[in-house]
Amino acid sequence: MEPYFWWTEEQKEIAKKVEVFADGLFEEAEAYFWKKKFPWDLVKKVADEGYFGVGIPKQYGGLELGATGSCIVAEQLGRLYAVGHVFVVSMLAGLEQMLRFANDEQKEKWLPQLAKGDKLGAVCITEPFAGSDAANVMTTAEKEGDEWVLNGKKRYITGAGVSDRYFIYAKTSDEKDVKKQYGHLTSFLVEKGTPGFHLEKINKLIGFDNVPNGYISFDDVRIPDENRIGPVGKGWSVMMAGLNFERLIAGAVYVGTMKDIINILFWYTQHRVQFRRKTNQFPGIQNEIADIIAKYRMGRLFAYNTAKQLDDGLEPMIDASIAKWVISEYIRDAGLKAVQVMGGDGLTRFYPVERLVREGKIGEIVAGTTEVQKMIVYRFASMLPIYNQGMRMRWNDEVNAPVVSKKPSRFNGLEVNEENILKVIAHDYKVNPGLYMSPDDVREDIGGSRSAIRKIIERLEEQNLVVTHRDRQGKIDLVKATYEGLKKAFPREYYEWYPDWYADADKF
Ligand SMILES: Cc1cc2nc3c(=O)[nH]c(=O)nc-3n(C[C@H](O)[C@H](O)[C@H](O)COP(=O)(O)OP(=O)(O)OC[C@H]3O[C@@H](n4cnc5c(N)ncnc54)[C@H](O)[C@@H]3O)c2cc1C
Repeated sequence: MEPYFWWTEEQKEIAKKVEVFADGLFEEAEAYFWKKKFPWDLVKKVADEGYFGVGIPKQYGGLELGATGSCIVAEQLGRLYAVGHVFVVSMLAGLEQMLRFANDEQKEKWLPQLAKGDKLGAVCITEPFAGSDAANVMTTAEKEGDEWVLNGKKRYITGAGVSDRYFIYAKTSDEKDVKKQYGHLTSFLVEKGTPGFHLEKINKLIGFDNVPNGYISFDDVRIPDENRIGPVGKGWSVMMAGLNFERLIAGAVYVGTMKDIINILFWYTQHRVQFRRKTNQFPGIQNEIADIIAKYRMGRLFAYNTAKQLDDGLEPMIDASIAKWVISEYIRDAGLKAVQVMGGDGLTRFYPVERLVREGKIGEIVAGTTEVQKMIVYRFASMLPIYNQGMRMRWNDEVNAPVVSKKPSRFNGLEVNEENILKVIAHDYKVNPGLYMSPDDVREDIGGSRSAIRKIIERLEEQNLVVTHRDRQGKIDLVKATYEGLKKAFPREYYEWYPDWYADADKF
């Protein structure tokens, strides 16, 4: 396993160890694919090595190797398919959430159990009517004395049935204002065997071979208040607490598999002959393998870069989403390419490449769909000045063209009145004919107070010289000149522009 130069000695050590461990179990994991059974004995071996505790502080029996260590272990265990998925959800079943929100007693009780891995954990957010819209859960928790009574259902729960510990989010308030502030959720740990807590159904999925994934239901399930993690109404913050880590690990678990596929493709194409040549001599085949190698290296580097940020105490919201989205896309794409390179053999289940397509497709949905990751990337990037610092195009008289400019506007310092504001807005048509200006753009160009500018724009609108775009509260958001406004502000020639080569005879 190729280490990165920023890894600590401990991380490099565990990388070597876990790779040997995964290599040793590879054949058994493959056999489980045929046995169609949950690989309990492999999971037990992972637990015996202490890998479930890789991200848990040493004081609670963990290895304390941070996000980087967790990625290293996930990358290798992911090569063992079901084992990797179970490792990921079990380790993520509230780890970050407990580290940040549990009290000392709760940490003492649950974290050593998590680190040992002898009892598996599951994360339970999704419900029949709450998928991407995770805040919309309908499972309720009502307080009765020192107990909470849970009712509802969760679905798509990885490790359903085989897990002992279920980290769930339930609704503790129905008040509209509370919901608006995301204060209606609370998180709890529910243990298997609690009366009223049942396994409802196991899904038959296109992938996640041998991993039980299903529905669970709560019928008047009573749990003590000590199983509540974090304050009442803080469930959303608890859920959000671990998301960067979770998204990263959900991506990292696929990385090692891509390397195994590269190995298979090199071997396979060195032994397959068509048109009296080994297929690895066809440039098209080489291109596909090169493409997979590039994706493997880019995805892996990105994952470990994100892990380093987490270990440095940063919150890489954008990068964690990109890691999850891009790696699962890479996996699906690499799977499709691998099948193509192997032709009909790729389509059989006798070679472990078709699985990658199915796994990759699941990767694009599980732990937040690609669309949701993109939504996060867009929203957070739009709040960062490095991406969204605002810019202005201004007319440059020397070159007689619009250019990106930081210079003050030509209208700067003019009196703030209707005539000049209309000029500012009409001039913007010359620079950006299809765009509106914000009132702040207008103010930046000519000065004056926000309220004065707004009032003048309103008056200009009443005269049909400008048209506005307003927000939901009716506040002016954007403004542009009407054709009448353009006419009133400047003569027709002001807006004209022709390239030098354009014949005067053709102008009209
Ligand atoms: C194999 C597997 C394992 C899983 N394991 C777990 C688990 O252990 N615990 C758990 O709680 N959940 C788990 N899930 C659930 C998973 O997190 C959800 O499936 C996922 O969040 C999407 O929700 P959904 O399936 O309800 O799809 P929906 O939310 O209904 O989405 C359907 C489509 O609409 C799109 N969409 C929705 N909202 C928007 C929007 N605002 N903008 C643009 N597009 C949008 C989605 O991207 C998607 O393409 C698992 C799912 C699978 C398949």
